[in-house]
Amino acid sequence: MNNGTMKAVGVHPGKREVALLRHPAPRISAPTELKIRTIEVGICGTDREICTFAYGSPPDDCDYLVLGHEALGEVIEVGPRVTAFKPGDLVVPTVRRPCPHSHCVSCRDARQDFCFTGDFTERGIKMVHGYMTEYFVEDQVHLNAVPPDLRDVAVLVEPLTVAEKALAQLWQVQRRLNWGGNGAAPGAGKTAVVLGAGPVGILGAMALMVRGFRTWVYSRSPEPNPKAELVNSIGAKYISSETVPLAEFARMTGPIDVVYEAVGVAKITFEVMKILGLNGAFIFTGIPPEKPAIPVEADTLMRRIVLMNQAIIGTVNADRTAFEDAIRDLGLFKERWPDSLRKLISGLHPLENYRELLLGKAAGIKNVITIGA
Ligand SMILES: [Zn+2]
Ligand SMILES: [Zn+2]
Repeated sequence: MNNGTMKAVGVHPGKREVALLRHPAPRISAPTELKIRTIEVGICGTDREICTFAYGSPPDDCDYLVLGHEALGEVIEVGPRVTAFKPGDLVVPTVRRPCPHSHCVSCRDARQDFCFTGDFTERGIKMVHGYMTEYFVEDQVHLNAVPPDLRDVAVLVEPLTVAEKALAQLWQVQRRLNWGGNGAAPGAGKTAVVLGAGPVGILGAMALMVRGFRTWVYSRSPEPNPKAELVNSIGAKYISSETVPLAEFARMTGPIDVVYEAVGVAKITFEVMKILGLNGAFIFTGIPPEKPAIPVEADTLMRRIVLMNQAIIGTVNADRTAFEDAIRDLGLFKERWPDSLRKLISGLHPLENYRELLLGKAAGIKNVITIGA
């Protein structure tokens, strides 16, 4: 830090620029706020898309947006009314902030992940600066405590919340079948398919595995490849859609109870919908860019959805419970698959490498920027 400013990586939509910039260092301005030193920030497809200027908007009073929404930090200063944290604590912040409208029952209930108005904001994405910088200030209600022994993997908490919120909804929907989230292994004897082997897919596969599901990951790249190795190392089964056609894949899996889509590509996703089993649930998490229309076997799908009691669920963002579940699950993953979990983080990079990470060809599994040691 110098002259009250610090290093930050941001996008400048007006100039269509991604840059390393000097950003004012934040200060605590409310009694329940904390100042946090950023340790690590994960990079994902959302960041890379913001850098194509497809979306992402700066705060009203600024012409750039500081990127970064997957962060781990250390508390260095607390406001006088902070009760839940002290300096030295490790924290992972949530991303979405509530809309201002009194009639939005979700936001008023701290469930801004189900905001009804669309006027929510998101740190590092929509109208609030993100965490790809040296320090940030946040209210205690938007922070989650992380145990020190998860420090090396806690940057994965945010991407894991995608699966946690999806699973919470899966239990709700499948309560119609007497499935429950209360048993030790609610997925025991059931089959799940994860579409895509990026970080969201692999973390989703881990979350399904610890709940007892027989888990398959269907993804494009032929074996051998590092993602396939990682998937197989946790006891899930990686199958390449390039070498194993859908019909053959369906014969291998038998009836599918859950599909967890984490690929963001409509074509393969709607094809796989044709092999979802009786009373199954299909969960969409990917956000494909706008593209020309493609043919889909709509009548076949509609027949199957109705005649087979299928539930199709879309899910975005995550609530506090999903963050708490993710922190607890990361602990389980680390106990069960310490090496595989660490391999998910395929690269640690200095902030100065932002250009290659955000604009270069996507490489590795999860790339992470290290800001403070
Ligand atoms: Zn992300
Ligand atoms: Zn709202």
